Amino acid sequence: MELKICHLYPDVLNLYGDRGNIICMEQRLRQRGIDVVTTGVSVGETLRASDYDLFFIGGGQDFEQEVLLGDLANGKTAEIKAAIEDGKTFLAICGGYQMLGHYYKTWDGQMCDFTGALDLYTEGSKKRMIGDYAFSFDELPGVRVVGFENHSGKTYLGPGVSPMGTVLKGFGNNGEDGTEGARYQNVFATYSHGCLLPKNPQLCDYILKTALQRKFGEADLAPLDDTLENAAHDYMESRLLS
Ligand code: GLN
Repeated sequence: MELKICHLYPDVLNLYGDRGNIICMEQRLRQRGIDVVTTGVSVGETLRASDYDLFFIGGGQDFEQEVLLGDLANGKTAEIKAAIEDGKTFLAICGGYQMLGHYYKTWDGQMCDFTGALDLYTEGSKKRMIGDYAFSFDELPGVRVVGFENHSGKTYLGPGVSPMGTVLKGFGNNGEDGTEGARYQNVFATYSHGCLLPKNPQLCDYILKTALQRKFGEADLAPLDDTLENAAHDYMESRLLS
């Protein structure tokens, strides 16, 4: 068994250790005897989405997002949309999350027309939403995800997507409606940066299962010893929520 991961824009979108999410997925697959190959696809390189099973897009600053507009329009947007509709798994973080929506209007009025792969849009505000935060993940009842957010963009979901969950502490999508992240098909989009999967192993396995199920029709992931991961998670959870 092998999963092929595509890391989109690894050299441009990689804030706060976002790459750690890929390392976490690779490790948790290999520990189950599943092979994994990760390929970076960046500016000017052709994306053939049918070559991959799982896509990762990290976060970036406004400037970096603006730099990518031309490259997205030059073929990648169409590939990303087709892959999403084909049920491929995506994990997109912060700037990468915003990029999957219709547009991002920065706090100083710069309009970025994005992929429109997901029914959502983002508008910048002067206030940055920064800090450790926590949210429920609706598909795994009782699971509280701990993470770190840093964005000025406020994201609003349309009827075509669902939130990942509800903010328990912090800001989430916009600091107003209590939602965090977006779900559509096998897309997981969130404001939570690099520590997301290492500190939330149940979420990591849940995401991996969507890709395994799609490719092999089954997704038996043997339990791992998550003592250290759960200790890190529980420490943050109690710091944030108690
Ligand atoms: N530039 C976006 C914002 O500030 C995304 C930032 C990020 O990826 N951390 O909203």
